[in-house]
Amino acid sequence: MSTSPLRVIILIGPPGSGKGTQATLLKDRFAIPHISTGDLLRSHIQKGTPLGHQAQKFIEKGLLAPDDLILEILLQRIAESDCRKGYILDGFPRTILQAEALQTVFGNSTPPIVIHLDLNDKKIIDRLTQRMICSHCGALYHLHLSPPKIPSQCNHCGNPLVQRKDDTKEVIIERLKVYHTLTAPLIHYYSDKKLLHTIDCDQPKETIFAQIITACDPSDLSSQ
Ligand code: AMP
Repeated sequence: MSTSPLRVIILIGPPGSGKGTQATLLKDRFAIPHISTGDLLRSHIQKGTPLGHQAQKFIEKGLLAPDDLILEILLQRIAESDCRKGYILDGFPRTILQAEALQTVFGNSTPPIVIHLDLNDKKIIDRLTQRMICSHCGALYHLHLSPPKIPSQCNHCGNPLVQRKDDTKEVIIERLKVYHTLTAPLIHYYSDKKLLHTIDCDQPKETIFAQIITACDPSDLSSQ
C-alpha cells in the first residue's frame, strides 16, 4: 500500500474569485483531479437525474444545495480510484457542516491545504456578469479580460460559449449573500486550525497561481 501523503487542496472563495481557473492549473501541476461540486451538480442536471432535479431549484435561485445531497455526491466522487493520491476541491466545503463531514473523512491523515481566494464584491459582480463558459468543455472566458479568439466560440473545442443561468446580476447578489453568511465562517474555521492561506485575487492569474504553489509546497521554487 502507498504511504505517500494525500495531497488535498481546498479552494474557498466567493463565486468569481477564480477557483475554477486555479483548480485547472493545479490539476495539471500536481496530476490530481479537480472536483467542482458545481460542475458535478450541473452534470446531474444535464443528465436529468433525481439528484439533479432536486438541486436545480437551489442553483437557479443562487442558494446552496442541501448539505446531505452535496455530501452524497462529493463522497461518491472522492471514493473513485483517481483520487487516491489527492484531489482539488473547488466549491466544497461551503458550510461548516460540510467542513466537519470532510474532516471525518480525513481523520488523522495529512491535513488539507486550504486556500482562501479573496476578492471584493464589486470586482466579483464585474467578473461574473462578463463571464462566458464553454457549453461543452467548461472553459471559462471574460468578455474583456480573457475574450475568446473568435467571438462566442471556445478556443479549445470550438463549441458555443454561453452565460451560466446563475451569472445574472440578481442571482450573483444572492450568491454573494449566501457566501458571506454560510461560507465565509469557514475562513475562521480553517484559520483556527492553522491551515488557511489567504491570497489577494485582484492580481494576474499567474501571480495567484505562484502564491498557491508556494502555499502548497514552500520548498518548490520552480514556479517563481
Ligand atoms: P459553483 O459552480 O461552485 O459556483 O456552484 C454553483 C451552484 O451549485 C452554487 O451556487 C450552489 O447552488 C451549488 N453548489 C455547489 N457546490 C455546493 C456546495 N458545496 N454546497 C451546496 N451547494 C453547492
